[in-house]
Amino acid sequence: MSAAYRASSARPRIGVLALQGDVREHVHALDAADADAVPIRRAAELDDIDGIIIPGGESTTMSRLLGVFDLFEPLQEALADGLPAYGSCAGMILLATTILDTRPDARHLDALDVTVRRNAFGRQVESFETDLEFAGITDIDDADPMRAVFIRAPWVESVSPDVEVLARVPSGPAAGRIVAVRQGDVLATSFHPEVTGDRRVHEYFVTMVRR
Ligand code: GLN
Repeated sequence: MSAAYRASSARPRIGVLALQGDVREHVHALDAADADAVPIRRAAELDDIDGIIIPGGESTTMSRLLGVFDLFEPLQEALADGLPAYGSCAGMILLATTILDTRPDARHLDALDVTVRRNAFGRQVESFETDLEFAGITDIDDADPMRAVFIRAPWVESVSPDVEVLARVPSGPAAGRIVAVRQGDVLATSFHPEVTGDRRVHEYFVTMVRR
C-alpha cells in the first residue's frame, strides 16, 4: 500500500526512530493519538511510514548510531523528499541545520532551518517544568495551557523566515526563548510532551501527517 494512500486512511503509520532515547513514550503517545507507531531501526523500514518521530535522548549518541545503523543518509533523503517529521528535545537537535554547543563530530539532518543551542538551559537550570501557550493548540476554543517538561533541553536561538514559532518560554530567566517550531511538515519541541500524558502535540503531528 502506498504511503499516500495510507495517509488518507484512519490511522497513519508513524515511525519512531528506535536507536536510543524515550521511544516507548512516543509509541504510547502515538497510539493514544490514533496512529500506528512503528519502531525504526533499518533503512528499509523508512519506505513504509507516513511520518517519523525522532525522540528525546542524547543527540550526539543518536547521531553516531544513525551512522552505525546505516540510517543517516536514508533518513536525511526521506526528510528531503518530504517525509513529515517531529523531533522532541534531542530530536529537535538532530533535525536542525545549525547546532551550537555540540560535539564537532556530531551530524545533523538539515531538515529544519533553525539554529539550536544544545543544553541551553543548563547554565540556569537543568530540568524544569512550566505551563506555556502553543500556537494552533492552546489558542483554540479556550484550551488549557500546555504543561512542558524540559530535560537538559535545547532552545531555538534563531529561525529562518519560513519557520513558524509555536511556543516560547513564558517567564523566568529564559523568558521569550523559542521552544517549539514548525517548517512545512517538520515539527520540533525542546520539551517532552510524550512524558506528560497530554496528547495534543502528538495529535497535532498526526493531523499534519494526515494532510
Ligand atoms: N541534552 C540532550 C542532547 O544534547 C537532549 C536531552 C533530551 O533529549 N532530553 O542531546
